[in-house]
Amino acid sequence: MSSVDAQGADQAAGANAESSGPYYQLRVADVIEETHDSKSIVLDVPDELAGRFTYASGQFLSFRVEVDGQRLVRCYSLASAPGIDPAHKVTVKRVVDGRASNWMNDAVSPGDTLEVMPPNGVFVLKQRETPIVLFSGGSGITPCISILKTALATTSRPIKLVYANRDDRSVIFKDELSKLLGEHGDRLEITHRLDDVHGFVDAALVVQEIGSRTDADFYICGPGPFMDVVEAGLASLDIPADQIHIERFESPDTPGAEATAPVDTSGDLVVTVSLDGKETDIPLGEGETILAAARREGLEPPFACEEAYCGCCMARVTEGEVEMKMNDGGIDQRQIDEGWVLTCQAVPKGKVRIEYPD
Ligand SMILES: Cc1cc2nc3c(=O)[nH]c(=O)nc-3n(C[C@H](O)[C@H](O)[C@H](O)COP(=O)(O)OP(=O)(O)OC[C@H]3O[C@@H](n4cnc5c(N)ncnc54)[C@H](O)[C@@H]3O)c2cc1C
Repeated sequence: MSSVDAQGADQAAGANAESSGPYYQLRVADVIEETHDSKSIVLDVPDELAGRFTYASGQFLSFRVEVDGQRLVRCYSLASAPGIDPAHKVTVKRVVDGRASNWMNDAVSPGDTLEVMPPNGVFVLKQRETPIVLFSGGSGITPCISILKTALATTSRPIKLVYANRDDRSVIFKDELSKLLGEHGDRLEITHRLDDVHGFVDAALVVQEIGSRTDADFYICGPGPFMDVVEAGLASLDIPADQIHIERFESPDTPGAEATAPVDTSGDLVVTVSLDGKETDIPLGEGETILAAARREGLEPPFACEEAYCGCCMARVTEGEVEMKMNDGGIDQRQIDEGWVLTCQAVPKGKVRIEYPD
């Protein structure tokens, strides 16, 4: 539970001089064509921001981009590994008709500047001695290769990667994985599964790939149906929940797309939302979050995970007081002290005003 008041926000004004709200301007050092439908973007993190951009393998960065006049916030996992790779690198795979992913692939060039939030996320290497089994599908390889590289460099744990792709040309980091296998063949195993050759991964295959490694830490990241079968396979083996680590690459729905139940807004809870230079007063239902109310009103605030870990939906409280239902690492104490809240978790205690970053 966390509570923020307007006084904290006022004291914090100007505390982020080098950034625009929670976003920092980072220069694109390089763009690497990985496959026919994915590119890596390498970022130049200046020395003065090195501390803010320290990361653990498996964490992600949130980018704020403008596509066709629409401002979008999207998370991309770091495929680089700290202390091993010289620079922060994310890899973006095109999504059919996806706005940000296609823009990142088509419009970003070396020398450009991108707005980036510092690293976040809890899908990280856990300190244990047991084997590691990673299940990745498509772009879900990004946090997994980062974890894999760190585990090879800092532990002696046996590691297995099961990596599913549509076809051979879609395999991201094929050469890098093959090099790692060549260097660490004594304790690294990689199974490539190609839909057009082997068919889709199913729960029976998951069980077969796990074999006797039921004491392992399992890391899963990929498309929804792939994650479902991996989870089904793990469930059939009664793998305890604390050995299973999952990263979901969900994209926010189109604004207002989901059916929302009617909300009783007859109480005295009102939030004034400042977004994209416009102020909107929105009455709230009891227990309704600021993000839910803003979306119900037809606004388009940034958000992604809605589970308090990605930080995409952050806004600053400038009047009144709110309470956050939870914080799963999406916002740190320094940001809370500066008046920021996760709007997906923030419930006003009365009349409040919040400002999304410009
Ligand atoms: C923690 C995290 C880490 C991630 N890491 C990575 C990563 O490393 N690499 C990576 O490639 N991705 C990653 N993602 C996913 C990424 O954030 C985006 O969700 C993804 O790139 C798609 O965004 P988009 O803007 O291109 O798609 P969107 O424009 O949001 O579209 C998504 C889907 O909705 C459909 N759609 C869009 N607009 C409409 C409309 N008006 N009506 C109907 N349907 C519509 C599109 O056809 C598409 O299928 C990650 C996500 C999370 C949460």
